[in-house]
Amino acid sequence: MSPVDNNIPRPQPPALTAVLPAEPLLLMTAGPVPVPAEVARAGGMVINHVGDTMAMVVRHIREMSRYVFQTRDERIYGVSGPASAAMEMAVGNLLWPGRRVLVCQNGLFSSRFAEMAAGVGAEVTVLEGSEGRPVCAGMVEAALGRGRFDAVTLVQGETSSGVLTGDLQQMVALARDHGALTIVDAVCTLSTMPLKKDEWGIDVVVTGSQKGLSSLPGVSLISFSSRAWEVIQGRRGPRPHWCLDAVRAERFWGEHAYHYTAPVPALLALHEALRLIIEETLERRFKRHLHSSLALQAGVEAMGMELYAPAEFRLNSVLAIRVPDGVDDGVARKYMTDRFKVLIADSFGIPAVRIGQMGEQCRAPNLFRTLHALGVAFARQGVHLDPSAGMASMEAHLAEHAEDVL
Ligand SMILES: *Cc1c(COP(=O)(O)O)cnc(C)c1O
Repeated sequence: MSPVDNNIPRPQPPALTAVLPAEPLLLMTAGPVPVPAEVARAGGMVINHVGDTMAMVVRHIREMSRYVFQTRDERIYGVSGPASAAMEMAVGNLLWPGRRVLVCQNGLFSSRFAEMAAGVGAEVTVLEGSEGRPVCAGMVEAALGRGRFDAVTLVQGETSSGVLTGDLQQMVALARDHGALTIVDAVCTLSTMPLKKDEWGIDVVVTGSQKGLSSLPGVSLISFSSRAWEVIQGRRGPRPHWCLDAVRAERFWGEHAYHYTAPVPALLALHEALRLIIEETLERRFKRHLHSSLALQAGVEAMGMELYAPAEFRLNSVLAIRVPDGVDDGVARKYMTDRFKVLIADSFGIPAVRIGQMGEQCRAPNLFRTLHALGVAFARQGVHLDPSAGMASMEAHLAEHAEDVL
């Protein structure tokens, strides 16, 4: 008798080396983003997940993360999983039945906090921004005046709509005065623009690896204040999560012992991504992101397209560009990939395409290639555009800030 069941087909997929292009599409979407060579190399290795080298890597990741998060908090951990897993770790450890949370919602990612909080049985109140406009401090102040809340969730940059929570610092201060913990999603913004966890008094910050930090997907970071940690430790009864349990995370991240098998390659890659950020310094990195995005914005507008969010609420890290009436942006985006090998993103339900401005996306050659492809692709759809004028305008902005954007 055959040792295997011959009725179950034995598939014969091609080896990926035969399938993957020599040069992948230029990823100018809202993530994942291209990674530096050092990061890619580090991500191709597996070492013992609880050995001495890994313990050193973990210690350095935590030290470097503190600089990037601008915090002295001891409780800073990696999470195996997407940024959503870090969001879930925040929610799952700080909210439970009977606890009340105020969710500031400007789009898809901020609404994810509401779903997660409802999932763990918390009482959820949602404040919603309007088209291209975020929830503002006044709305939060009014909501806090109407009821008691244990936590407030905020997203610094709402990737799905290209909207920035400009009042973040004020909103955090209001929540603190109210006695509520703040949970801030800085997934697309961390290391692309200022966020000072300690100085602003934020309790929990979460971020992913594949966006602002320009590393490989698969591992995320979370930082808890001592206030938040007291709440976690004071919790009675069984804790619902096991992988995402913050107390158990301390085993691996604090004691270098086994909790679950760490995502070794993603952690080695993250080490390199953080090291490169520190080498660049946050100050220079913020400037590079700012002027890269402003140059692109100038180019898009000079070409004749319209930016989705008004300047005062515009997120620089992910730029939403309005799709002109009557145009099928899917056709234009396909032309961009076929002809120019540049990938940009569509949007979840709003009439916009989105271009990422995170990490390695903010390099002058990437900007030129992307803006040119965008202009040509939409002009072919019958939109009255002047791609050359766009390129000239972008070039002028870049020339003016030549030291900031390389
Ligand atoms: C991408 C993103 C997320 C979710 O990240 P995943 O890694 O896909 O889970 C959450 N918040 C913001 C602001 C994001 O940009």
